[in-house]
Amino acid sequence: MARSEISTIVQTTCPYCGVGCGVLAEPNPDGGVIINGDPAHPANHGRLCSKGAALGDTVSLDGRLLHPEIHGRSAGWDEALDLVAEKFRETIAQYGPDSVAFYVSGQLLTEDYYVANKLMKGFLGSANIDTNSRLCMASSVAGHKRAFGSDTVPGCYEDLELAELVILAGSNAAWCHPVLYQRIARARESNPKMKVVLIDPRRTASADIADLHLAIAPGTDVWLWNGLLVYLFQNGFVDHTFLEHHTQGYSTALAAARSASPTIPAVAQACGLPDNDVANFFHLFARTEKTVTMYSQGVNQSSSGTDKVNSIINCHLATGRIGRPGMGPFSITGQPNAMGGREVGALANQLVAHMDLESSQDRERVRRFWGSPAIAARPGLKAVDLFRAVEAGQIKAMWIMATNPAVSLPDAGQVRRALSKCDFVVVSDCVRATDTTQYAQVLLPALAWGEKDGTATNSERCISRQRAFLPRPGDAKPDWWIVSQVACRLGFGAAFNYRSAADVFREHAALSGFENEGTRDFDIGGMSKMSDDEYATFAPVQWPFPDASGVGRARFFGDGKFFTPGGKARFVALKPRAPCHAVDDDFPYVLNTGRVRDHWHTMTRTGKSPRLSQHTPEPYGELHPLDADKLGVRQGDLIRVASRWGEAIVRARASRDQLGGSVFVPMHWNGQFASHGLVDAVVNPAVDPVSGQPEFKHTPVRVTLYRPAWYGLALSRRELDTRAVAFHTCMIGSEFVRYELAGERAPEAWQAWAQALLAASVQHEWLDYFDAAAGRYRAACLKDGRLEACFFAAPAPVAVEREWLASLFLHKELAISDRAHLLAGRPPRGQEETGRTICACFGVGEKSIVGAIQTQKLSTIAEIGTCLKAGTNCGSCVPELKMLLGERYARKSA
Ligand code: SF4
Repeated sequence: MARSEISTIVQTTCPYCGVGCGVLAEPNPDGGVIINGDPAHPANHGRLCSKGAALGDTVSLDGRLLHPEIHGRSAGWDEALDLVAEKFRETIAQYGPDSVAFYVSGQLLTEDYYVANKLMKGFLGSANIDTNSRLCMASSVAGHKRAFGSDTVPGCYEDLELAELVILAGSNAAWCHPVLYQRIARARESNPKMKVVLIDPRRTASADIADLHLAIAPGTDVWLWNGLLVYLFQNGFVDHTFLEHHTQGYSTALAAARSASPTIPAVAQACGLPDNDVANFFHLFARTEKTVTMYSQGVNQSSSGTDKVNSIINCHLATGRIGRPGMGPFSITGQPNAMGGREVGALANQLVAHMDLESSQDRERVRRFWGSPAIAARPGLKAVDLFRAVEAGQIKAMWIMATNPAVSLPDAGQVRRALSKCDFVVVSDCVRATDTTQYAQVLLPALAWGEKDGTATNSERCISRQRAFLPRPGDAKPDWWIVSQVACRLGFGAAFNYRSAADVFREHAALSGFENEGTRDFDIGGMSKMSDDEYATFAPVQWPFPDASGVGRARFFGDGKFFTPGGKARFVALKPRAPCHAVDDDFPYVLNTGRVRDHWHTMTRTGKSPRLSQHTPEPYGELHPLDADKLGVRQGDLIRVASRWGEAIVRARASRDQLGGSVFVPMHWNGQFASHGLVDAVVNPAVDPVSGQPEFKHTPVRVTLYRPAWYGLALSRRELDTRAVAFHTCMIGSEFVRYELAGERAPEAWQAWAQALLAASVQHEWLDYFDAAAGRYRAACLKDGRLEACFFAAPAPVAVEREWLASLFLHKELAISDRAHLLAGRPPRGQEETGRTICACFGVGEKSIVGAIQTQKLSTIAEIGTCLKAGTNCGSCVPELKMLLGERYARKSA
């Protein structure tokens, strides 16, 4: 069936972040897809961010893995599945069940996750299954279990709107959870009493709505929250009734907090903050009952991440602010279905349906339900340890599903060594060429977003359907089917004879309710008898949902009942710990990693979208201007960021938003898009001892200027082979690909070199210009008057108007004036320079916005919207628009 033959609007869910927005997808006759937000979805009420709005750009079949492959040759499903089953069977027979492993992903749907976890823990007899959600929110899971006895998110998104104080702790929600951020921003606009505090070493886009920004020293969160616990006690803000009836361990936790953070000045000193800011924060928290602390990777991704989570929860327990409207600690997940993974127990130390792997009673219950021979009796290896065990030869067969660990895990060089040594690597994915697939003996083609059916759970426990609206391409299959087929070949057919995702979901729901009787938080037993039609049409619902006649529940713990043995929440006594690796003379800067606004994870999807790629076209390292001066680094230079584990080379940016002594590098760039942009090769592999979550936010590094012999820029209608160039990045645009280049030796003959790079032939018209004195070379290649490619090289970073050059590729024939200015790299007089794209939806650049602000005296976001449309669709660029307005005021008043 051709893609254009399906034509109805389908309600589905965004596959990116943990907000879990509802999407309306409408395939159109030309093979594209019209994407809109779903007004009926409770997470987003019709809004989408820039990434969600651009989903239609990512569904093409370019680069897809469409057929099984064995050692690089196409194979049939039977041959590939037989081989996988045989290798796993042989390996287990020879070396035991712990010699095999699965590494899975928050990109999987719950049904896929469930089947993979069932096969490993229930039938292969090992718990060596871990998920890339380990990198995202394992510390929250561990913190929840320590405090609540269960991995329960107590609140819901509405709480963020009902709150009078929202604390964004280690969360750049404006870029990482944009629709939720916009809900907070709108609530703040309509409620003048509402305050927002941002706790983050960087002044991120989320500072736009913050009344107070605490630029906390990296890794010092526990000192801060311990200090708050002491302050609440000293100033009479503790809810003693709640403490007495519903909690335990308060005195010990308070004593521990007092010894580390006795006074505001002590806290301020430990956290590198002004006394006043700490006092203001404590004052606000203490006096605002409706307080939500929303936290994310800045808290979780730390060698003391679990302690940070518990330090936040301790303060909410001390004030009894949990489980009631407008209050509570609130972990927001990075991935679309991290919560679904938690439900099915896909972390190596979890059992399915929020049961305990360490409880023999729980294991026996699951064994009876599954009819399995035995449940793995001890936790498996967590992600970082798992890949160490692969390198050490303890794990000999590994199956990686829907994730790219060669890019995303810390010490990525170690991961690559491990995969290259592993006897047998299987990768099931929808993308053919990732940094990880190159290590696989067997590749299994999985369905992608838009083609697969199932469910995902967002950060507020809301289960939504992801529905197929495109036909299945090539031989691609659902992940749950692929795993079940291997299970059948291993002799477990009776337990894996699913016909559909609905079959898997019903079993998952039934297990959650099996012998539950309210003893476990996760219970969706009310959905276990859904018909196929009901499964096809069900509307988003929050768990728990134990009874088919009931409704989902928005909040937990408002009744003061927790899932610990005594039913009381537990305070955790916390002794703050510094990050694992301290800066020193050799590595004096702290590397912090994170997301940019318009890319997702390792760019295998968002990298296909021209409009998403424009906002941040290449990897960068952001430094404080004083540090940049000290290092002799100017805006646009290339810098080398090196640690004990590896190095990356990225474009330098100087910004006062960055704390002195630190450098921020985004996490996304893989080997397909940058030769030296792999920042996780630099990140240290230290992990939290409780959660196993890596310390992505704190690696000691050395930053130095990278001095190539020349810098280059190429734009081409076709992809170029840049492998021979020492440094290169690439960005997919509309009708062009853009390459930033740098070489360590200038070619002897620029013209011949550039003609080879741009694949120019006698059919092309060649224009060029060489300034020997300045060492500058510029060239363009045209065919029948149409621009095919252009190239600029200089001994300093190439200063041309990139967006204007890119726009020339949209023309069938160059205008005379454009042609005359082509080698100058700037538009003719009278044509506007647009600058770096700020608004991805309407392609509006920074220079256009600044120009309009100045010439038309625009002073509000609404005026910019009316004038340029910027900011009027998804709203993701609004913080940057405000910054541009603010910059204007700063310049005027200077
Ligand atoms: Fe997708 Fe954006 Fe919604 Fe996240 S906030 S789910 S990325 S549309």
